Amino acid sequence: MTKTWAETLYDAWGQQYNIDKIYFESGTGHQHLLIFHNSIFGRVMALDGVVQTTQKDEFIYHEMLTHVPLLAHGKARRVLIIGGGDGGILREVCKHRDVERITQVEIDQAVIDMAKKYLPAHSDGAYDDPRANIVIADGIDFITGTSEKFDLIISDSTDPIGPGEVLFTNSFYGNCRRCLNPGGILVTQNGVPFMQMDEVKGTAKQLSQLFADWHFYTAAVPTYVGGVMSFAWASDDTQLRHIPLERVRENFRASGITTRYYTPDIHRASFALPRYLLDAIGKSVE
Ligand code: SAM
Repeated sequence: MTKTWAETLYDAWGQQYNIDKIYFESGTGHQHLLIFHNSIFGRVMALDGVVQTTQKDEFIYHEMLTHVPLLAHGKARRVLIIGGGDGGILREVCKHRDVERITQVEIDQAVIDMAKKYLPAHSDGAYDDPRANIVIADGIDFITGTSEKFDLIISDSTDPIGPGEVLFTNSFYGNCRRCLNPGGILVTQNGVPFMQMDEVKGTAKQLSQLFADWHFYTAAVPTYVGGVMSFAWASDDTQLRHIPLERVRENFRASGITTRYYTPDIHRASFALPRYLLDAIGKSVE
């Protein structure tokens, strides 16, 4: 009898995985952590019944949440990652040689430990990068209390259920803005709009009250089911989101980074949003 696991993100619909092998399953004190193998997606991590990342498609999400803001900014030296315990974001940020310091604030040490053990290619040694400064804390406590400034803040959190909920609040977004250097950018994991439109609308409402420029960009990540995955973008620099394609190409070439999903054309195109999403966030076609 094949063992299966059903994601519980949505009550009336969801995806199911056959489980070939369970590597780890336990409460961590913060959330329920499960890591298993599926014949199509490889090793899969789930937190509180929601897929976080899989070996097969993690590159799409991690490349898009890092290279779009870093290659748009072009001069980021200090990066803050909130969440990201699997290490995929840290790995991609470390590929940018000009980044001098990366602070990662993760609430759950167990996620880091188990990802290092069972999903080692996600961090791929990035946790040992001398630029990486790992802080085990609640991201809301860190961002509220720090006096440090950053050029880029990446919120790679779970969905706004459980410990991730505080990372979708006005206090979090407002303190992120306080902690950005001039020309700094905030990007966040913001769910699948077709299924989680309230999450997108909530973020849009808050960012529009705080930042001079805000928008979303998207990518199709197969295991974030129900349509494209959205990433929130916010900055007081109104030009960075619109930098010319040729500049993106130059920045990408200069970075020397090789990717499997990100390209300068995808970078630019990812900010083009469908009509239903523009209407939902109250934006006319830009
Ligand atoms: N890519 C995934 C997604 O889009 O859902 C997110 C991956 S990552 C595993 C999410 C991380 O956020 C987890 O390691 C979790 O422990 C962390 N996290 C959740 N709430 C947090 C909080 N309040 N402060 C810091 N980290 C948090």
